[in-house]
Amino acid sequence: MEKKQCKVKVVIRVRPPLVSTEKISVSTKDNHVQIFNHRNINENLQYEFSAVYGSESTQQQIFNDCVKPLLPKALSGQNVSIFAYGPTGAGKTHTMLGTPLNPGVIPRVINELFAEIDRLENSEDNEWEYSVSFSYLEIYQEKVQDLLEPSGSDLPIREDAEKNILVPGLAKKQIHNFDEFKNIFGPASNNRTVAATKLNEHSSRSHSIVQLTVVKKKPCRILHGKIYLIDLAGSEDNRRTGNQGIRLKESGAINKSLFSLGEVVDAINNGLPRIPYRNSKLTRLLQDSIGGTCHSVMITNLAPEERYYYDTYCTLNFATKSKKV
Ligand code: ADP
Ligand code: MG
Repeated sequence: MEKKQCKVKVVIRVRPPLVSTEKISVSTKDNHVQIFNHRNINENLQYEFSAVYGSESTQQQIFNDCVKPLLPKALSGQNVSIFAYGPTGAGKTHTMLGTPLNPGVIPRVINELFAEIDRLENSEDNEWEYSVSFSYLEIYQEKVQDLLEPSGSDLPIREDAEKNILVPGLAKKQIHNFDEFKNIFGPASNNRTVAATKLNEHSSRSHSIVQLTVVKKKPCRILHGKIYLIDLAGSEDNRRTGNQGIRLKESGAINKSLFSLGEVVDAINNGLPRIPYRNSKLTRLLQDSIGGTCHSVMITNLAPEERYYYDTYCTLNFATKSKKV
């Protein structure tokens, strides 16, 4: 089989303004993003990406363009990862989770996965049987926590002889339809609500990770595909740390995993021979699901308001660096 090295596809999504009275500093046109600094005209900049979704973009459009085409890959035994990147308040959770009336990537993936399995199993010459299981975890302060069966302990990440990454002890639930997923995921999401008032701070510093395993079986043959759906920690942590290596270790506020993800994506997209997966928990966990023959998309979320200007600027520079060159 052909071994094609896949790059990480980087797209931009700008959310609509939330109140009409605030100054706006981001505009989009075709596949360009422009940012305006009203105080310093020299900082008006333009960036180009393979796809840019403006404030009018819908959840369905994001799913259809960026995510749906990857699901058949997972159903044929390949690994897929979808990330939402960007500063807190830019729309990561909206993109990944959405609301009951306006569902995001995660519920749409579950729906489409079961619909596609239905189609496959009912096609005339089908010889495969499919099953889907679900795990839900987060990485918070470089600790891997199970959200389905929280124990408080930091779960280990291991690699087996075939170079599959495993998390021994992580709960894994078989699901057969959307409702089963909802009944497990809903209560588990509450496990993130340590204390309601701290939720925002917590979610801005932790990576929330949905892991779906798709098993495809027929006599004498079995294939495993994995799908990671990740709501990343807020990228404003990155700004505080910047690229200053030593500071990065000193400050308690650093998000090592987010920083390392940037390095891994850069290394993959620039075709470097060595990808530094081992520098953080997140990149170690994703070692078998990003780069190589895996299919990955990073949805970079931006807030349009001027008060986000600096976050927007840093996020675009991060995304530009890590887009396909
Ligand atoms: P993040 O997870 O990046 O911190 P959220 O997803 O919580 O950001 O979004 C911040 C706010 O903006 C929320 O109130 C959310 O409902 C709203 N929002 C985000 N994206 C959109 C969008 N595309 N359309 C409408 N509202 C949005
Ligand atoms: Mg969020």
